[in-house]
Formats: sequence, C-alpha cells, structure tokens
Amino acid sequence: MARMGKCLSCGGRVEMYAPVCPHCHKQLNWNMVNCPACGRAVSKKAAACPSCGNPIKPAKPPKNSLQSCGGCIGAVVGVVILLGVLGDIRSPSTIAAVVIVVVILGVVAYIKAKAT
Ligand SMILES: [Zn+2]
Ligand SMILES: [Zn+2]
Repeated sequence: MARMGKCLSCGGRVEMYAPVCPHCHKQLNWNMVNCPACGRAVSKKAAACPSCGNPIKPAKPPKNSLQSCGGCIGAVVGVVILLGVLGDIRSPSTIAAVVIVVVILGVVAYIKAKAT
C-alpha cells in the first residue's frame, strides 16, 4: 500500500511522490507543504511559514516520563525540606502530611506515566 499525501492545489488525496495530481492534474512538489495556519505552500525544510511565521514542524516536546518523575521527586524533596524547616519533622502530624503529599505526587506521577 503506497503512502498517501495531499495535493497542495486541490487538497485531494494523492499517492506519495506522484508527479501529477490525479484530481486537478497540477504538478506536485513533494518538497512543499501547506502552512496549517494560512494555507500557503511552504518548503518542507522551512522551520516556519515565511508569510505568517507559523511553525511548519511543530517542536514536539519529548515525552520523557523520567523527566516528569524527576520533577515530582524534586517537589517531594522540596516539601519535605519545607516541612522540616517549618515544623518538627518528628511530630506525627508532619510525618502524616509528608506521607499524604508523597502519595498524591506518586499518584500524579503514575497517571502522567500512563498518559504518555
Ligand atoms: Zn490536486
Ligand atoms: Zn502561513
């Protein structure tokens, strides 16, 4: 099965790298893409549309679950340090608060890891 692309002139589905559109019979330039914002034909290699500045290749943030977990661990450490500074770390209420925060952040990290 050949990969399908889009004709820049009529928008119809065309076989990838076909020289001519079977719908409108216009020559196809496979190095060009339509700008998603203004619809202008822009070079695929262009980082952004020259007429409206819309990014052609949107920077996809790498889904790094380790990074988000690192942020959670940092938040836990911050909360523990904060509680340790503010109150007596050995008091049962402080320990309970730390446990609750750790559990919440653990659940959030788990949901985030599942979602990505
Ligand atoms: Zn066409
Ligand atoms: Zn544009």
